[in-house]
Amino acid sequence: MAAKDTDCGLLLDMSQKTRGILSLITTFLWPPVCANCGRGICDSNHLCGGCWQEMHWVDRPFCPISGVPYPYDAGEDIVSPAVLADPPAYDKARCVALYDATARALVHKLKYYDRTDLAVSMGDWMVRAGADFLADSSVPLVVVPVPLYWRRLIGRRYNQAALLAKAIADQKELAYWPDCLVRRRATRQQVGLSDEEREVNVRGAFRLNETYRHSISGRSVVLIDDVMTTGATIEACARALRRAGAAQIFVIVFARVVESGRMPI
Ligand SMILES: [Zn+2]
Repeated sequence: MAAKDTDCGLLLDMSQKTRGILSLITTFLWPPVCANCGRGICDSNHLCGGCWQEMHWVDRPFCPISGVPYPYDAGEDIVSPAVLADPPAYDKARCVALYDATARALVHKLKYYDRTDLAVSMGDWMVRAGADFLADSSVPLVVVPVPLYWRRLIGRRYNQAALLAKAIADQKELAYWPDCLVRRRATRQQVGLSDEEREVNVRGAFRLNETYRHSISGRSVVLIDDVMTTGATIEACARALRRAGAAQIFVIVFARVVESGRMPI
């Protein structure tokens, strides 16, 4: 038994050494660079100091429901007037950053320039943003992305929200249901539409995939998207999940447009 333990210890030691050597070779061949600007940095999947500073990270104080940051500390658990006036279909939403220069550049690289590798670091930041509900082990969580219409999926070859959702599910070892929601019709690009037009554009555009009809009931869903602008798309998805019997709906988006900083997506 003692010999066996020693053998196991040696094997473990060797595999750790092998991993260390492989890591050194990888770092030598592909030195880590900033996820945004490509400048050389110490750790992979991070930002350089300049890009880090330019990112408007969202932190407390924010509305405990919508996650929209407050310009001043209104106090813990103070719900924003916007949420009180028009409560969302989701329970809680969180975002990593405001949708401006650096966050916008990262989203565009992921979405339009095949930088699918960015999903790992962006997903990592999203896990931190949603830490308060991702840490709650009392409810079985399932990670679901906002779907693309099939024609757009063929054109783009991948759904950026699904890549982020997969990265989050992998990191937290959660169930991942990429086809749980279905976009039942093509919607117009939300760019350039007013708030009302955006809401009408996506109303009734999502439904539950019937495969999940029985399994969704009583589950808590973590709904994932890259950007939230007016929240019309997230709201339409949350309503579809609520109608299907989801117990709780949490939302994590990478970046969020807030009124004063609205920029075209
Ligand atoms: Zn940089």
